[in-house]
Amino acid sequence: MSRRWKSHIVRAFWKNVGGRSPTHAVNIVCCALRHRLCVKEPPFQIPPKYSYAELLGIPVIENDIRCDGILTSFGDQFIIQVKRSSPDRQNFTVCHELGHAEIFRRALVLHKASREVREEEVLANEFAKELLMPKDIFCAIALSCQPSLQSLFFLSHTFGTSLEASARRLIELNIWNFAFVLWNINTAFDGGILLEIERAVKPQNFKPALKTKQTLKVNKEGGLGKHLLETLNIPSIVRYSDESRVRESIRRSSVQRQGLTLLFPQSATL
Ligand SMILES: [Zn+2]
Repeated sequence: MSRRWKSHIVRAFWKNVGGRSPTHAVNIVCCALRHRLCVKEPPFQIPPKYSYAELLGIPVIENDIRCDGILTSFGDQFIIQVKRSSPDRQNFTVCHELGHAEIFRRALVLHKASREVREEEVLANEFAKELLMPKDIFCAIALSCQPSLQSLFFLSHTFGTSLEASARRLIELNIWNFAFVLWNINTAFDGGILLEIERAVKPQNFKPALKTKQTLKVNKEGGLGKHLLETLNIPSIVRYSDESRVRESIRRSSVQRQGLTLLFPQSATL
């Protein structure tokens, strides 16, 4: 709460917008933008129509770039480029870049610095979350769902956000107590496969530790949940969702080689 914000751009943005903190200032701006958009229910923006970008007069170009998104400024005009090959992340990326643009505009800074400033990144992510998954609306809808993989797909579809972004929102708002594990089939060998954890998102106090790039050797093709418990020798403190092949939401090229598992502590409400 007493965090001191050092970035002069963040401080100028906060001063000009008002609010109890820069994060609160982001909420104020996002609430006003949603109001201007006149959309009261999710999804608030669905590619290829970028409604928030249109509202702010910022063109979006889908391009073959290396990173997820690039914001470029020409005087007081901004342009966003978004990576063409990441359809499930484009919506969030565009709102993240819009967040940067709004911070610069409201801080009255017209020239974007080339280096990334961590505090500005934190606020740009807050922008994207509040524009696409506003706290109150996201909480109300998520709380009406049973914690499950199907519900995560439903939330992702409803809000137009990736499975991972939706899972992160559920965890940070403390709505479900669970871990999100995205895994790859690394190598198949005689009688078994190697699974590799590509990304894991979990609350701080969640056991077991799930390390990225951790490889698990399993004896037969199957999902991660059961094997994770066996291989890591974890007692039955967790239950796992049914694994499902990740559908079109995840990179299409590797769709056959990726899976998703949600891990819930046994005590979590079913
Ligand atoms: Zn950024």
